[in-house]
Amino acid sequence: MTTHPDQPGSQPDAPATGGVVDVDGPVPGGAFDDHHPPDAALVGDCVHCGFCLPTCPTYVLWGEEMDSPRGRIYLMKEGLEGEPMSDSMVEHWDACLGCMACVTACPSGVQYDTLIEQTRAQVERRHERSRSDRALRRLIFEIFPHPRRLRLLRGPLRALQATGLDRRLRSTGLLDRISPQLAAMEGLAPPLGKPQPLPPHIPATGERRGVVGLLTGCVQGAFFPGVNAATARVLQAEGLDVVVPKAQGCCGALSAHNGREEEAQDYARRLVDTFEGTGVDHVVVNAAGCGSTMKEYAALLADDPAYAERAQHFADRVRDVSEVLDELGPVAVRHPVEATVAYHDACHLSHAQGVRAEPRRLLEAIPGVQLREIAESDLCCGSAGIYNILNPEPARELGDRKARNIVATGADLLVTANPGCLMQVASAIERSGHPMRLMHTVELLDASLSGRGLPVR
Ligand code: SF4
Ligand code: SF4
Repeated sequence: MTTHPDQPGSQPDAPATGGVVDVDGPVPGGAFDDHHPPDAALVGDCVHCGFCLPTCPTYVLWGEEMDSPRGRIYLMKEGLEGEPMSDSMVEHWDACLGCMACVTACPSGVQYDTLIEQTRAQVERRHERSRSDRALRRLIFEIFPHPRRLRLLRGPLRALQATGLDRRLRSTGLLDRISPQLAAMEGLAPPLGKPQPLPPHIPATGERRGVVGLLTGCVQGAFFPGVNAATARVLQAEGLDVVVPKAQGCCGALSAHNGREEEAQDYARRLVDTFEGTGVDHVVVNAAGCGSTMKEYAALLADDPAYAERAQHFADRVRDVSEVLDELGPVAVRHPVEATVAYHDACHLSHAQGVRAEPRRLLEAIPGVQLREIAESDLCCGSAGIYNILNPEPARELGDRKARNIVATGADLLVTANPGCLMQVASAIERSGHPMRLMHTVELLDASLSGRGLPVR
């Protein structure tokens, strides 16, 4: 088991005070300034009941109060009441995966998602990170939100994979010794196939039932082009015109989840501009982390008079691909696919968007598919955006735990709906020594609609 830097037992077992915050806003000299500090009223909603604790992956790993949702909210309260932002506070907030399992579990409706996003933006503005941490974060944000730069990386990565050099490098452990974070980044890269560019307009098959826009995404577009191609084919087969704007960039999810508020707002504005005027009924997303952020654009751009209303209109039209297909109902014929399938809930689909039943209904409607539930399905796999790069040790532990639970289902195929989860679970499954095929939900649907069955890999 990994240990948190503050262990053992440097924090109180449970906050002694009740939920009420003694001030309306941040006290000068305390952890927060007055640009969207953690909302005191939301902090006060926490009654410290502890129902969220067993669902929190960091609390499950370390058993430390300050690494639980309740503890992190308590630190926000201390910060609001005048406690300066300390390294220890930041470590506990940084250790949060942002999985939102606590939001699902909380009977008092505490909006931890809003609180941690407000807190992270304050941390990024007001906390001096170490030089190595700054450099790593700069590297990540110079690459991941940039589809073109990611596509440029494909060539060298494919060459490494084709020659087997990636495996040999991994087996030496050299990269791990130089930087566990860089080793984690390298180890997550999925096997790269050919690019599958999509035309800007894909007409519906048969009677047209609507028009949707497709977000192609950054990591999804560069590393999983087959998922975007399958999404387009499935939407088309179900009677939807698909619009794929060429100029689309990042949705800003990684930036928003990591406190880079202005950067996230810039990405959001650009995406609103991109889809405005395309006449689409919905903007369809096949990456859970992107979808959850895009549904929150109204809050992200609430202070911008030029965009607030447009962001609300945009957010109202965002749908996960499983929501659109489930709501529309099938017209395309489902051909049998004989497979025992374990469905893994991506946290940003289940906890953040409440989308659990739709993908299961879609999968169960495929003749021949037997769906198996995974134990501890609410517990994060450790991917969490870039968490598995920034915090490789706990992420690996959570990944291995998830892999054990997946393998225990006896399924021969793992299906999920997020590129981050696909990469994280794939590397954990590989470590487990129980090889298993992994697919996105729409890839399995596409295999059924095409009648070709599962692709050979
Ligand atoms: S379940 Fe909700 S109210 Fe209870 S401790 Fe957790 S966040 Fe606070
Ligand atoms: S978001 Fe996840 S990791 Fe963070 S406090 Fe909530 S349950 Fe724990």
